[in-house]
Amino acid sequence: MLSGSCRKSCVVKNLFYRIDLTKIEGEGEFPCPSCGNIISPEDESNLNYEIIDVKTDSQGRLKELLIICKRCGSKIYLEGFELLDELENLKESEGIEEETEGSPI
Ligand SMILES: [Zn+2]
Repeated sequence: MLSGSCRKSCVVKNLFYRIDLTKIEGEGEFPCPSCGNIISPEDESNLNYEIIDVKTDSQGRLKELLIICKRCGSKIYLEGFELLDELENLKESEGIEEETEGSPI
C-alpha cells in the first residue's frame, strides 16, 4: 500500500495576470503583479522576463504578448497594444506644427 501519495504539494498554482498597457504610466514598464519585479519593454537582457508568446493581428501588428516573470514564474498577459498605436498616431499628427522663426520685417 502506498501511503501519503501526492497531497497538497502536487497542486501547482498557475499564476496568471493581465496587464493593460494603456493603463500604465511611463515608458511601458510595470512591476510584476506578484513579486514587484520591474519589467521593462526596453530591457532586452531577458533577465527579468522572457517573452513566451506573441500574438499579432492580420496586419502583423502586435496584439498581445505573453511573458513570464523570471523571478517568480508568473505568467503575464500584456494587452492594449492597439490603443497605444492609436495614441502614438495622435501624438504624431499633433506634433507636425512647425515653429517658424519669423525674420523681422
Ligand atoms: Zn514576478
